[in-house]
Amino acid sequence: MRTKRITPEERERAFKSLRKPDVEEKQRLHVRYHVEDFDVNDRPRRFLEAFAAILKHSNYRMALEHFIRMSAKCSRCAVSCQVYQATGDLKDIPCYRSELLLSVYRRHFTYGGMLKGRLLGDPGLTDEKIQEMAESFWNCTACRRCSIDCPSGIDHGLITHLGRYILSEIGIAPRALVVSTREQLEGATGNTSAIPVPALTDTLEFLEEDMLEEKQVEIKFPIDVEGSEYVFFPAVSDFLMEAETLMGIAAVFTATGDSWTTGTGYFDGINYGLFYSDRMLERIVKKIDAETRRLKGKKVLIGECGHASRSAKYFLPTYCGGKDAYPVINIMEYTYEVFKNGRLKLDPNIVTEKVAYHDPCNIARQGWIIDKPREILKAFCKNYVEMTPSGSNNICCGGGGGTVSIDEIRPYRTTIGGKLKADQIRRSGCHYLVAPCANCKKQLRELVEDQKIPVEVVGLHDLIYKAIIFDDSLKVKKIPAEAGTGEEGK
Ligand code: SF4
Ligand code: SF4
Repeated sequence: MRTKRITPEERERAFKSLRKPDVEEKQRLHVRYHVEDFDVNDRPRRFLEAFAAILKHSNYRMALEHFIRMSAKCSRCAVSCQVYQATGDLKDIPCYRSELLLSVYRRHFTYGGMLKGRLLGDPGLTDEKIQEMAESFWNCTACRRCSIDCPSGIDHGLITHLGRYILSEIGIAPRALVVSTREQLEGATGNTSAIPVPALTDTLEFLEEDMLEEKQVEIKFPIDVEGSEYVFFPAVSDFLMEAETLMGIAAVFTATGDSWTTGTGYFDGINYGLFYSDRMLERIVKKIDAETRRLKGKKVLIGECGHASRSAKYFLPTYCGGKDAYPVINIMEYTYEVFKNGRLKLDPNIVTEKVAYHDPCNIARQGWIIDKPREILKAFCKNYVEMTPSGSNNICCGGGGGTVSIDEIRPYRTTIGGKLKADQIRRSGCHYLVAPCANCKKQLRELVEDQKIPVEVVGLHDLIYKAIIFDDSLKVKKIPAEAGTGEEGK
């Protein structure tokens, strides 16, 4: 793709918002967060070329052909969308948003549309429409709640994904996602949080020392162990922000004695390709496959992260071997199995506060796990409460579809995108809100902070770490003197 540095005037024109000032004000969306340094010339032609190329090399056409024929215009999707419910803006009705792209498909990629265009002298796709799509497709969290209610089977999340993909091919994508993905695919560290390997190993050693002191058990994070049953890929940001989740996972493996390992060749489960580009999605999934192969692992184990689980589970077979691809499991599935067959014991007298469970969209509605974490929680948390709606009908945290990574739109996420979720959390009266997903945790912490809800957002394994009971044979008799960090008291 040809690129050039654009002038301030060109940039202003290219990014001029089409939202009315009162809508911008209400949605607190005064910022531009898309990549700004790209070619703004001739966008309609380049958009259509990218669209044509994607149609040629994928099977999106099949879905689009169905969608353009089916809409019943019943507006049921509006009722289920948390964004429209919060804004009341007609442009946030899911089928309005989807129609932005479907109309381009109809006009430029069907015989009827092309003929009609010629007869009526319709010039087709305009710059303004591209700008409207750029704004609209990033208002949607791709949570797919609207899709389960659509009687015509229209998948708005998929249309949002395709719209974003085409836009990214002409250089319109959120800076936050592009920069992280570039570091993951081409940077020196090879992961989205830019964590170098020595920093990773230092962090894990530090956590091991902490756990030894706290639990009197040698809980390890095995590194580069060839032939392990599970090769572990958490959202890499967990190494910076979710120590207790990681400690809980390590504690479970210590209790069971099963083999697992983190690889220093690649240790990032995050796949922002799922949010904006199939090309990136494929390249990232292949890194997981390559690292599992290098370590001669047997299964891919994804940590507490929704989109990481979904992208690996559904796209490893697509890009890395079909039915011969590595099996992918989410850590909650593993923990459930060992808990059910008695290999993991949890003390029911530790977590006495009110606990509620948030279903990450990519794990429940768009994934395959709903009951297992609940069964574990109910077994050891005396005071578990259910939020409604839940399970596959759950309300998105408001930061889905990659939007949580865009710090510039935090006011939008915590007042519009997450409003319904905030109301739901408040109603539950919970003390601990369990959210087994790195993206949901970040969004929900910002949400409860901005909405002033006194709730602690945690992972499932954070609570498991508190309540885990180790076999006496695992207890160390005496903590070795060198177990301290040497930093105490400094
Ligand atoms: S996918 Fe979610 S955010 Fe997007 S339109 Fe549907 S319900 Fe609304
Ligand atoms: S629910 Fe489906 S059929 Fe009804 S308006 Fe929305 S997209 Fe159209």
